[in-house]
Amino acid sequence: MYFHPALETLTRPEIEALQTERLIKTIQQCMRSSFYQKRFAEYKLDPNSIQSLDDLKRIPFTTKSDLRDTYPFGMSAVPLEETVRLHSSSGTTGKPTVILHTQKDLDAWADAVARCLYMVGLRKGDVFQNSSGYGMFTGGLGFQYGAERMGMLTVPAAAGNTARQIKFISDFGTTALHAIPSYAGRLYEVMEEMGIDPRKDTRLRTLIIGAEPHSEAQRKRIEDMLGVKAYNSFGMSEMCGPGVAFECTEQNGMHIWEDYYIVEIIDPDTLEPVAPGEIGELVLTTLNREAMPMLRYRTRDLTRLLPGKCPCGREHVRLDRMKGRSDDMIILKGVNIFPIQVETILMQFKELSNNYRIHLETIDSNDVMTVEVEINDLFTDDFAKLQDLSRSITHRLRDELLITPKVKLLQKGSLPQTEGKAVRVKDERNPY
Ligand code: AMP
Ligand code: ZN
Repeated sequence: MYFHPALETLTRPEIEALQTERLIKTIQQCMRSSFYQKRFAEYKLDPNSIQSLDDLKRIPFTTKSDLRDTYPFGMSAVPLEETVRLHSSSGTTGKPTVILHTQKDLDAWADAVARCLYMVGLRKGDVFQNSSGYGMFTGGLGFQYGAERMGMLTVPAAAGNTARQIKFISDFGTTALHAIPSYAGRLYEVMEEMGIDPRKDTRLRTLIIGAEPHSEAQRKRIEDMLGVKAYNSFGMSEMCGPGVAFECTEQNGMHIWEDYYIVEIIDPDTLEPVAPGEIGELVLTTLNREAMPMLRYRTRDLTRLLPGKCPCGREHVRLDRMKGRSDDMIILKGVNIFPIQVETILMQFKELSNNYRIHLETIDSNDVMTVEVEINDLFTDDFAKLQDLSRSITHRLRDELLITPKVKLLQKGSLPQTEGKAVRVKDERNPY
């Protein structure tokens, strides 16, 4: 039932004892990095004074800007010749960051991913296909090595060429696929065009979806379309990549591996911990990284910790589905909106496809939001019916968002399809 039984079934006191021991080692490792040496000196913080999980609070946060400012190798805690892999992420602003790995880091990462894949019921004998982009994007190599570590035949199909992707699924008897949620919808459309019924004509049973925010409604759709169970996978390149948090078969939140990370949820404005169960920014401290240990890294991802014990027997805390990133939040006429709120409403309309975009523009000095969404092929071209549909979508969105967006229904295929993470917001508002 468990890939690493001893580590996955640690009790809370055991988790905390292990975290304390690993935190002290991590601080020692951080002191080999010129960045953390300076940081501790600047805050007049004695590294030897950090002896308990409580002491963590005295350590300053590490941010994405720190990674950018130290680009490319300034945060490394080992000499460059001890590192064996580099991943880089350009993020949304285009300023790059670099993450370095030693062989030990890569082994620990592969173990974490293998543990996740085993947790959702995959076993030796399964055929695992990865439709992620390879290269710098960690969803490629991250899942490749994790699935191999678990002992599965692993197909590095990579992104793009959907017809070929589907041919691989059929020819190789793929039972499990890793895909970005927005791509899973595309895959189904092309299967339909090719006359392939995923339930009857393929052995696909498990989907791993992650890398971008998606709603529970979107997951249900994907599961229904492809006849699979779809498990949410969360990770980021700063924390290696995939394998940070993953759903178990209970599908009740994502266990975050607390032997790898210390988890905090803070209020992004006050930087204080939120009350238990409240939504806030996820902050992570690595516990077994050699090349780039990180203390209290502000991920900018918004989520909350879920209460209660999971029936699967793992006491590693569970994160709720990501609400989005603090920098994804749209502020329109003083109202805060997350794209996932729009998605949750749209997915409730069976007449709509999975592809949508939020367009923001300024018209006559007024900021306007238009929700552009593709309709399903099978839906009507009857104008009156389309108008009715558009009206009901507008009402539901207004109830959810408290502002009234315009709704634009589009023919299938009108919105751009990306190979990587979907771009859900096009912001063309005039700057103030
Ligand atoms: P990258 O470092 O380019 O792989 O991007 C990592 C970011 O992708 C995270 O910080 C999240 O914002 C987002 N992300 C990854 N996995 C998920 C997920 N399962 N749900 C929502 N957002 C995710
Ligand atoms: Zn569980």
